Amino acid sequence: MANFFSKILNNLFQSDRVADEEFYEELEEAMIQSDVSYPSCMRIIDAVKREADRKGVNLTKDVQKILKDYLLDTMSVDEDYYNFEKEKSIISVIGVNGVGKTTSIGKLAYHLKKKGKKVILAAADTFRAGAIEQLVEWGNRVGVDCIHQKEGSDPAAVVFDALQSFKAKNADVLIIDTAGRLHNKKNLMEELGKINRIIDREFAEGYRETLVVLDATTGQNAMSQAKMFKECSQVTGVVLSKMDSTAKGGMAISIQAELGLPVKYVGEGEKIEDLKRFDAKKYVEDIFA
Ligand code: GDP
Repeated sequence: MANFFSKILNNLFQSDRVADEEFYEELEEAMIQSDVSYPSCMRIIDAVKREADRKGVNLTKDVQKILKDYLLDTMSVDEDYYNFEKEKSIISVIGVNGVGKTTSIGKLAYHLKKKGKKVILAAADTFRAGAIEQLVEWGNRVGVDCIHQKEGSDPAAVVFDALQSFKAKNADVLIIDTAGRLHNKKNLMEELGKINRIIDREFAEGYRETLVVLDATTGQNAMSQAKMFKECSQVTGVVLSKMDSTAKGGMAISIQAELGLPVKYVGEGEKIEDLKRFDAKKYVEDIFA
């Protein structure tokens, strides 16, 4: 993904070009083409221009350095954001169908198990046909328990069962798969609210994470999903899936710059080991490589 972005950007920053209005227009175009949202673009370019003025520089190579520092600053994910990986934690995962939610849960379970954590899955997406079987299959593949009931059952009841198992087995992490019915915001809020109340009641002491899975190949659609989910629940981070595909990758910038959400993990394939913590330094370096 980053190659696409860097190809356009590097052409921009070549030679001793002066950073005039035409340059900024081209920079904006390059960012938009790489799936950086328009409001994020405006915000970034404004900040970069201001900093260039403040420093009294006007060559594109100086602007490049300012842009790089700005992106690193906005996108870096503090180590504290991953505290839940070290403590007892309950992770709810939300996302609309098809974005890679189930796959990401499987990969996250593997990532945490590899760190020595005892992980349990809860199949609380009881709505989508096949979702339960798919999660059970991931549980088998990773070698962790998956608590489930039958299709159509009450998600809150599944979470209740899973929490009993979590406590009885003295597990470290419970990852809850939830339904992704974003088109029905009221239902979704009610469902997530009910799940959260059960967690509050049964296990208030653990770290709580709510991760939204977004498909990096869907650009602005993913941005609007993220906004909606943010309105429905206390989102603590994003899993950006399919970054290995034709994704242009700029969405990672918008998620942070426009929505203020940290991208915590990126999915880079369909295999069990294809989930990584988001590495802002590498991401930004790749853009300008
Ligand atoms: P869900 O409906 O959101 O649970 O989506 P799934 O987990 O079933 O994933 C939908 C499709 O996307 C499947 O074919 C996955 O193998 C694929 N997928 C998920 N994550 C990734 C990823 O990071 N990269 C690629 N290339 N494909 C992915």
